[in-house]
Amino acid sequence: MSPEEKINADQEERLCYMALENRSRELAAYIEAIGQLALVSVTDRNGRILQTNARFCEVSGYSEAELISQDHHILNSGTHPKEFFAEMWATIEHGDNWHREICNYSKSGAPYWLDSTIVPLKDDDGQITRYLSISIDITERKQADKMLRRRLKEITCLHSIRRDMEQELPPDECCQRIAVHLRDAMQFPEIATAVIKLDGRHFTSGKYSQNLTHGLQAQIIANDKVCGWLQVFYHESKPFLLPMEQDLIDTIRNDLGKWLERMQAEAERKENEALVWWQANFDPLTNLPNRRMFYDRLEQEMKKSDRSGLPLALLLFDLDHFKQINDTYGHAAGDMLLQDAARRLGGCVRGSDIVARLGGDEFIVILSELADPNTVERITQDALHKLAEPFQLKNEVAYVSTSIGIAFYPADATDSSALLKSADQAMYTAKNQGRNCYSYFTASLQQAAYARMRLINDLRGALAGDQFRVYYQPIVELATGVIHKAEALVRWQHPTRGLVSPAEFIPIAEETGMIADIGDWVFHEVARQAAKWRTSHHATFQISVNRSPMQFHNDGNIHAWFDHLKKLGLPGQSIAVEITEGLLLDTNVTVTNQLLAFRDAGMQVSLDDFGTGYSALAYLKKFDIDYLKIDRSFIHSLTLGSNDMALCEAIIVMAHKLGLSVIAEGVETIEQRDLLAAAGCDYGQGYLFSKPVPAEQFGALLQNARQPI
Ligand code: C2E
Ligand code: CA
Ligand code: CA
Repeated sequence: MSPEEKINADQEERLCYMALENRSRELAAYIEAIGQLALVSVTDRNGRILQTNARFCEVSGYSEAELISQDHHILNSGTHPKEFFAEMWATIEHGDNWHREICNYSKSGAPYWLDSTIVPLKDDDGQITRYLSISIDITERKQADKMLRRRLKEITCLHSIRRDMEQELPPDECCQRIAVHLRDAMQFPEIATAVIKLDGRHFTSGKYSQNLTHGLQAQIIANDKVCGWLQVFYHESKPFLLPMEQDLIDTIRNDLGKWLERMQAEAERKENEALVWWQANFDPLTNLPNRRMFYDRLEQEMKKSDRSGLPLALLLFDLDHFKQINDTYGHAAGDMLLQDAARRLGGCVRGSDIVARLGGDEFIVILSELADPNTVERITQDALHKLAEPFQLKNEVAYVSTSIGIAFYPADATDSSALLKSADQAMYTAKNQGRNCYSYFTASLQQAAYARMRLINDLRGALAGDQFRVYYQPIVELATGVIHKAEALVRWQHPTRGLVSPAEFIPIAEETGMIADIGDWVFHEVARQAAKWRTSHHATFQISVNRSPMQFHNDGNIHAWFDHLKKLGLPGQSIAVEITEGLLLDTNVTVTNQLLAFRDAGMQVSLDDFGTGYSALAYLKKFDIDYLKIDRSFIHSLTLGSNDMALCEAIIVMAHKLGLSVIAEGVETIEQRDLLAAAGCDYGQGYLFSKPVPAEQFGALLQNARQPI
């Protein structure tokens, strides 16, 4: 380089240096100026703070020394979602500028808002080396904004509230509306509950959980400042208190107060009305309907009876010698007895029946829609028993008996007061008959009731008196005419009335529970007989016994049956049990267990009177039924081509498909027998072969019928 060239180069360098110096002074002035206003920081690529300015320290509350080499996370307020920062990093790492409003926390934990720009700084190769952040503090503006928006929302929603309050909504519903308005006005779908506390009472929109509302109320109570005003809850978040002006608060308080008054007045009025109505219609001692209410209900029930065609019974109860109780133990004790009697009566009737107190010691029961006339007997008997039990009156025990008069609508009278008179007359008849009994208004019913009562009494002595007999009816194999089995049918040899049909006494035995003992007796008798005939006649001879549903409910005695068979050396197969269809529908486990126990013991089961009940075919397989006995009503008018013939054929086919054998009951003619045999029916039973006969006679039948019958 020549000296001249060197001078030129030096000069150029000096000019360059001066230009640089000017530039950097300028820059320093900019930064100085920006630094008055802006927060400036530089971080490395991982967000570690390398440099901050004074304004940064001033706003964040940290000293420069506390900030340098810290991760910028220490400023994080947690206000922004993860996505917010992810987007920031993606932008700047890509080399672009990022610009957003961001909320940070100062050292003291106070939130401050920045309008922030982050610029990636790059080296000569264009590689990012650091990030420069320049921000303006916008906290004040943000707060003002929020207040303004809140105010706006408040005004909108409070307008709506006011509009609503002009309608007459009950307070809780009003609160519900308030919550909805707030939600709409603030575009905050999560608003859960609005609560207004007014004069010590809380009204809530009650939309969300009890817990939330309770928590809220506790807060209101704990924090006096919010007492009485409107507080809004967001779902699973802190409560938000709506700042409202006093006049608005007063309006709400005022209007809610008015509602409250009106509602209270309304509630009181309703309560009073209900009280007056109750006093007019109910007996205060027993809480039962009184005479007036009784007439009301009776008229209604009579109309119902007209519609349904089912009769109604009126049972008038009069306690015998009740005056003596009052005289002996005092009126308070008498009242106790009446209350107890009312309770006991209530326990005897069905839920739909009506028990009323006519006054004094007179009670009345309406038994409506009587599909089964025996209901009356049952309830009457039950009531007589229950009322005859001792009454505990404080320290005394008292006994009363009752006389009952029974009248039926429409048979005994067609208007309510005449019906009550009839029941009254019947009740006096009962009193004249020596009390502690009942009497029907209609003479024939009365006689029937007597007869029944006598029968029940006699039946109680029948077992001990050895008055039962077992008759046997042959069950014949239709293909061969051979007697294969027999059905055991019980008879009652009554000392004065002669032979009583089981159709007459079995239902009574079932109702009174005597069937259990009678059934056991029949079984023992039959087992003995089966053992005999299996030796004398045929080794597989089988006798079937009838078993009432009642006998399935007192579980336990079947094992005694099995034991008895064992003792006699008889296999289960020697006895079949006849049950009715209804039993299969009984879901009671003791019933199912017993049916299965019979099966396990090898005892066969026949389904009696098939076709008259529910005919639930699905159960036939489930319970391993062995025989179907077609009810005799289908056999009675069996002719070729008749409906009954089609039915019998269908039953036989179906039974065979299910693996069951079929026994036709009530076979009385040769034609019936032949038709059944042709249809493939397995067995027949009926007068054609023999009526049920005593054991000796049946033995003779077996002897003679070595030839087919
Ligand atoms: P069931 O089990 O249907 O018995 C068949 C009934 O039909 C018997 O009446 C029998 O005499 C009658 N019968 C048989 N063949 C003919 C016929 O060809 N024509 C007509 N019209 N009738 C015929 P019974 O003996 O009067 O028994 C009546 C019901 O009493 C029985 O009906 C059964 O349900 C019940 N019963 C009888 N003995 C007992 C018993 O020991 N225990 C239980 N729980 N019930 C029994
Ligand atoms: Ca039977
Ligand atoms: Ca039958």
